[in-house]
Amino acid sequence: MKLLKFGGTSLANAKKFLCVADIIEKNQINEQIAIVLSAPAKVTNYLVKISENNTNTKQLLEYANLSKNIFIEIIKNIKKIISYFNYEKTKKTIIKEFNELKKIIDNIISLKKCPESTKAIIISRGEILSICIMKNILQSLNHQVTIINPVKNLVSIGSYLNSIVNINESKKNIKKININNNDIILMPGFIAGNKKNEVVVLGRNGSDYSAAILAVCLKARICEIWTDVDGVFTSDPKKIFNTSLLKSISYEEARELSYFGAKVLHPRTIEPLENFNIPCVIKNTSNIKSKGTLICKTKNLNKTSLKGVTNLDNVTMYTISGSILKKTNNIFIRINKILTEKSINIILITQSSSKNNFSFCTFKKDQEKILSLFKQEFKLELENKLLDNMNINNNISILSVIGLNIYKKNNIISKIFSALNHPNINIFSIAQGSSKHSISIVIDKKNIFKNLQNVHNILFYNKKIINVFLIGAGGVGKALIKQILKQKKFLHNKNIEIKINAIANSKKILFSDNFIDLKNWEKNLQESTNKFNLEILNQLLKNNNFLNSVLIDCTADENLSKQYTNFLSLGLNVVTSNKKANTNSLEYYNNIRRTMLKTNKKFLYETNVGAGLPVIQTLQNLFNTGDNLICFQGILSGSLSFIFGRLEEGILLSKAIEEAKQLGFTEPNPYDDLSGIDVARKLLILAREIGYSIELKDIQIEPILPDFFKKYQDTKELLNKIKKIDCKFNQIVKKAKSLGNVLRFVGTIEKKGKCSVKIKQIHKKHPLYKVKNGENALTFYTNYYQPIPLVLRGYGAGNNVTASGVFSDLLRIIL
Ligand code: ADP
Ligand code: ASP
Ligand code: MG
Repeated sequence: MKLLKFGGTSLANAKKFLCVADIIEKNQINEQIAIVLSAPAKVTNYLVKISENNTNTKQLLEYANLSKNIFIEIIKNIKKIISYFNYEKTKKTIIKEFNELKKIIDNIISLKKCPESTKAIIISRGEILSICIMKNILQSLNHQVTIINPVKNLVSIGSYLNSIVNINESKKNIKKININNNDIILMPGFIAGNKKNEVVVLGRNGSDYSAAILAVCLKARICEIWTDVDGVFTSDPKKIFNTSLLKSISYEEARELSYFGAKVLHPRTIEPLENFNIPCVIKNTSNIKSKGTLICKTKNLNKTSLKGVTNLDNVTMYTISGSILKKTNNIFIRINKILTEKSINIILITQSSSKNNFSFCTFKKDQEKILSLFKQEFKLELENKLLDNMNINNNISILSVIGLNIYKKNNIISKIFSALNHPNINIFSIAQGSSKHSISIVIDKKNIFKNLQNVHNILFYNKKIINVFLIGAGGVGKALIKQILKQKKFLHNKNIEIKINAIANSKKILFSDNFIDLKNWEKNLQESTNKFNLEILNQLLKNNNFLNSVLIDCTADENLSKQYTNFLSLGLNVVTSNKKANTNSLEYYNNIRRTMLKTNKKFLYETNVGAGLPVIQTLQNLFNTGDNLICFQGILSGSLSFIFGRLEEGILLSKAIEEAKQLGFTEPNPYDDLSGIDVARKLLILAREIGYSIELKDIQIEPILPDFFKKYQDTKELLNKIKKIDCKFNQIVKKAKSLGNVLRFVGTIEKKGKCSVKIKQIHKKHPLYKVKNGENALTFYTNYYQPIPLVLRGYGAGNNVTASGVFSDLLRIIL
């Protein structure tokens, strides 16, 4: 004997009914089979809505009609395919059922209430009609059918809406039924009967449980649960990305998964199967070739495993506190007793070590009942202030990680917590199931699926994911996106995945809850209707719960740079090519470092000096390990490196500047380069990195051009004015040359942090002598590196090198 159960998702329309009939036909060839059916998808939801409303006749009838139409539509279409299908007879039964439902609705309206016994009758109608349709399909295909009435045969105890079946009693009843060996056995799921032979139901999703019971009662060798996914996955495949199908799991694991929210199985399904050692297979009606998931006895209960991540919503957490708790253990025992008496299930319990309070979670539907039971039971204690009022939190979810003996698994807790390490997440309670096969964490309900995804990624998806919010879509931003796209495959092979969640320019932003498709990002950003400003950005980041999220600043915006502490506090790492934060006041500079430590997030700015050259990291490595600076000298500007190189070749200053501008080496107004301020900023960053607490104003700047030239904003005009000093400048160059020197614009840091930027004569033997053509060079004379200094040399500007520097900072977030 084999038992097959088909859920509502497998019976959603005529085509699916016939597909199920086909599976039934194929399976009955070799052995006798029993079938348990649920109601077609959506039907029970409508019926529940009817049972929960007792005032609005129109709405109740609407729901009744909606569910009736689902059935009529199904049989109409079945008739089109199977000519022998007894459409009229089936239709009559459907209409009769719904006429009876209308009478019940009239009663509800006139009484203005719907007792639980009536609710059970209403919501069980879907299953009855599924069986009626399937019986007629099978009979039209010439099969003999026996229908088992669950109200008469499945004896249950408990409430009308959430009953528990007494297997021994039910077994006896079913044994008495005279079933022909050739018959296909059909039974509606979800339904049972109580001692008074009244209709009761087994809780939402209860057909799985019905299937397990019937499998036991009929001594089936296997119980197959057919649904709309290939089996049990590491998490809900409809809500979580990158889940994997579990080929087999133990009864214990299946029990914990379903208990903590994996909807694919009703939580009570496993126990009867486990007790009678009946294996269970979860299969997909739409993909019959897939082998599904086998649930069976494990050979080794002592081994450890990791099987899935689940969430349970619709739960309430109660925290009980008060002075009496220190004196007695009795309070918990009494709570447990009153809840057990009312068949209220406690999902998890935690207690503080000081025993000053304890918390427990139950399903939200029981909240009102629990509150009134608590008030009644502890009236005296509450009046005498021995107990405080219960603290209630119902904006929570229980996130659970399931696996055999999971508590023994290495690093499991630290991995889970690293996924939940975000300032947006409040953890209210942590419990390790008494079965040792689950770890549950009570957290905010908000963003539960993002959190679930993060935990799933860390535990089951062996890729490190970085989530990027890119601000600045100019030269560097664009180059960065290109490089990320180009490296996708290479990084994939190294198990790294970069997801861009947002791209913004100064006016607009593109954003996705998952990731932006980068195919047409420029066009999409241009056409985006989402405005960008700092307020909008902050709001967006507040709602972000991604793991390893990074804000990348590829702008030169001072206001954005002032938000870095804020971004770090919101749980983001910050990577920037923008120098404005590190050259702001020392107070803000230090504040960023303090926030970094406090939030355990990274702030990386390798491109602030020398673009892609590994300057900052090299310096940090040197000084962290005890080296000391004797002196630093560097050419820190690509444009000035070019201009001074040309001067030495005999080109006049104005011409050299013009060439540099044409080659795109200079700022829009070349005066900004010639003023020396940009070099001073880089020098300030270096000096601070070495440990000198100085401000920008402490750097002595000798600009190439006197202040007088500042007023010429127009380049042509500026160049005309410079022409007037070309000759004088050329004489200085020549004089230097006669001494065997060249002129260079050099940033210097001396002992005690004395900093200057100015034109210097550089001798042939000096490492900066040959640095020109836009190259940067940084020479560090230190205790370890002397008399030959440590020299870093290479292009220190340009979109590609800067972007690659940003990119490597980005990867340092996870490496
Ligand atoms: P049926 O109508 O067949 O009873 P359900 O909707 O009750 O189907 O259960 C199947 C659904 O369970 C799947 O569509 C899936 O979205 C959900 N589900 C939740 N957790 C899991 C999991 N770990 N593995 C597979 N499915 C899951
Ligand atoms: N039809 C019921 C429900 O929707 C039972 C089931 O599907 O298992 O909850
Ligand atoms: Mg189900």
